Amino acid sequence: MDGSTNNSSIAAGIELIPPAPPGFKSGFVGIVGRPNVGKSTLMNQLVGQKIAITSPIAQTTRNRLRGILTTPEAQIIFVDTPGIHKPQHQLGEVLVKNAQSAMRSVDVLLFVVDSSVPAGRGDQFIADLASHNEIPVILGLNKADQQTERDALDRSYAELAASYAWEAVKFSAITGDGLDTLLAQLINHLELGPYYYPPDLVTDQPERFIMGELIREQILLMTREEVPHSTAIEIDQVIEEPTITRVLATIQVERPSQKGILIGKGGSMLKAIGSAAREQIQKLIAGKVYLELFVKVQPKWRQSRTQLADLGYRVED
Ligand code: GDP
Ligand code: MG
Repeated sequence: MDGSTNNSSIAAGIELIPPAPPGFKSGFVGIVGRPNVGKSTLMNQLVGQKIAITSPIAQTTRNRLRGILTTPEAQIIFVDTPGIHKPQHQLGEVLVKNAQSAMRSVDVLLFVVDSSVPAGRGDQFIADLASHNEIPVILGLNKADQQTERDALDRSYAELAASYAWEAVKFSAITGDGLDTLLAQLINHLELGPYYYPPDLVTDQPERFIMGELIREQILLMTREEVPHSTAIEIDQVIEEPTITRVLATIQVERPSQKGILIGKGGSMLKAIGSAAREQIQKLIAGKVYLELFVKVQPKWRQSRTQLADLGYRVED
């Protein structure tokens, strides 16, 4: 009797990931590109939910985040990477290393550029890195909706793609135009394979992590330049009550002056950040949220690898 109970619970566990239908394809797609070209926006649009934070400020994405898209014919796992740039401190170096290692561990690379502006040196740097692998590369021309000098821009990106024998596809991550073609091209490069994740899952990150990111996004959007890059969010508690979810979070900053900016006159800034983040978190969990934010000064956390790891930033060598 005991034995059969065990068996059935194991079977229930396996049922979470169903067997893939015949001809099903699956694989990993690395999204690379300069900061601000729209990588996170694209991933959110493709998986149909906001899992990666986006902002007009560069270097928004710190961690490697997976977005999962399951269609009747394929499961694509997108790996969003931090924008590649010249490292300036320990955190910067970690970001670049993570991006480089992400490039080597995927089935297809989607190299995203901002096609509303000419290719720059940053794009060329990434193009070189991408071409050093055997992995197929698709050049994704994003922000099609913002192109003005269309013909000249298209021609120059077509030349870039041709010089490496890459396929190119143009789309807008905001409007969704062209994404069907992009998906078809990506699926074309995938091999037959299983479901790696349950079909209804859109990200591999726990909800708590996304909550922290949604708070960090509001800080990026609302405070001055010097604050955002030195914040880390810790979700201290998530208490689920029948009608509301209570979230307690601590924002860590490096300097007392940053704490002052974050709190604002009479607490006005923290209040604004909290109420905007609360709305985002409500969308994430599809329920009512009470959000309480604390601010703590934690000097120089950026420099310390141990602390980076404690805060959930994976350090890869
Ligand atoms: P990332 O740094 O590459 O992840 O870029 P984000 O996804 O954070 O986007 C940077 C900025 O570009 C944000 O302000 C986005 O709203 C904007 N953006 C992204 N995709 C598009 C697009 O297709 N069209 C337009 N007009 N803006 C976009
Ligand atoms: Mg991003």
